[in-house]
Amino acid sequence: MRQFGHFIDGQMHGTGGDRWLPVHDPALGRVYAEVADGDAADVDAAVTAAAGAFPDWAAQPNDRRARWLERLADALEARTDDFAHAEARDGGKPFALARDVEIPRAVANLRFFAHAATQFSSESHHGQAGLNYTLRTPLGVVGTISPWNLPLYLFTWKIAPALAAGNTVVAKPSEVTPATATLLGELAAEIGFPAGALNIVHGRGAEVGEAIVAHPGIRAISFTGSTAVGRRIAGIAGPLLKKLSLELGGKNPTLVFADSDWQAHLDTLVRSAFQNSGQICLCGSRILVERRIYNAFREAFVEAALALRIGDPMDSDARLGPLVSQAHFDKVLAAIARARDEGATVLCGGEALQRPGWFVAPTVLEGLGPDCATNREEIFGPVATLQPFDDDAQALALANAGDYGLAASLWTRDLDRAHRLAAALRAGIVWINTWLMRDLRTPFGGMGQSGMGREGGLEAMRFFTEPKNVGIQLSS
Ligand code: NAD
Repeated sequence: MRQFGHFIDGQMHGTGGDRWLPVHDPALGRVYAEVADGDAADVDAAVTAAAGAFPDWAAQPNDRRARWLERLADALEARTDDFAHAEARDGGKPFALARDVEIPRAVANLRFFAHAATQFSSESHHGQAGLNYTLRTPLGVVGTISPWNLPLYLFTWKIAPALAAGNTVVAKPSEVTPATATLLGELAAEIGFPAGALNIVHGRGAEVGEAIVAHPGIRAISFTGSTAVGRRIAGIAGPLLKKLSLELGGKNPTLVFADSDWQAHLDTLVRSAFQNSGQICLCGSRILVERRIYNAFREAFVEAALALRIGDPMDSDARLGPLVSQAHFDKVLAAIARARDEGATVLCGGEALQRPGWFVAPTVLEGLGPDCATNREEIFGPVATLQPFDDDAQALALANAGDYGLAASLWTRDLDRAHRLAAALRAGIVWINTWLMRDLRTPFGGMGQSGMGREGGLEAMRFFTEPKNVGIQLSS
């Protein structure tokens, strides 16, 4: 059986005590591989390697570090199909989505931050008190912890800026989807990426994740995952005064106004709810529709949801695959049962597919208000609710109800309304007449229970560096 081991100090490793966790193929609901069940000793070995590699890596001219990231990107791009296949297998992601969107985005992450390494600069201030300039130096060894829903995409989104800024990294992918991070480690070894600059430690969150967060040799933590775990990490890292970036859950609203071209955008609106079976933090799971078009929208939306083909991730016609794990499948079905208890009408879906694996039909619910758990708590599956609204004020109140504040999309042809609402929505990202449009230079992250700090572009380069003010007294 395939075993996914750690990548420490430039080499692939098994586990010290022959401890492995099962890795499942969600389309079959069966174990197909094992991943190293790491522990604090593995984290310690990775930190030692990273600390040893830090002086040389940090001292390299920026363009040399950029070149290494470019080489890794080139090697990954040349193996796109293999990586997409691996991601389809252990995450249940449709192969076409992995091949056409997510692996290319991982390549783009590496290239983007390779360029950022050569373009990043710091400020100088003069005219008030002497001459001041800011040095931005790497932090040292940093930890990154990423989730299962976009495995390589989010893994590279963190390691790339960390490395570009001159840090060395101890990275933990999700134990649920360890395949592509391991393959990336193998590629790094193949191209002779400087040993110890990038280290990958597998294992459970409570063991390896917490060991990374608590390790005294790790200066900063960049985490993407659930709000509950983010809170726990903040509890450990806070007293240690570690730099922390938390990208957490969401419960994103989609605001559809009667004047929008919603029929023409229907495919995007449906994707925004159900792409990757709703397992994207940016999916719109609360669809707010102006009452004048509510019935027509509901009919068209449900028809389009019913037409989504669900199937084996390797089936090129399948738009949706299974949910990632038995535990997540159970959680999503329990959320649907709770919605029924809360009085929801199930317009379509609402059940598992009668086949092996963890497939849940795209589910559209109506009849629930903003205060029920279904509209407040993240489900992270193919489940969306519809709520009508009468005017801008009510749309805004519904959109801003709840504790999360990650993303929102709003659909209207009224420019004035679009800008007014974009400013008033409590969300870190607002899309107007589009969804998931990404420019990697923009600040990425959420408000409230959706997180702390921003990733992307200069925000990431700033997070992974320490600013130091140098002030010089100039003679008059
Ligand atoms: P999770 O929080 O369960 O796990 C995320 C990572 O944290 C995994 O690698 C896990 O092993 C690790 N972990 C778990 N417990 C830990 C602990 N006590 N200490 C340290 N690390 C620990 O999240 P998940 O189920 O893998 O991912 C889904 C969640 O991620 C959803 O809530 C989703 O909204 C969120 N997400 C957010 C964004 C964003 O950018 N805001 C992007 C993708 C996913």
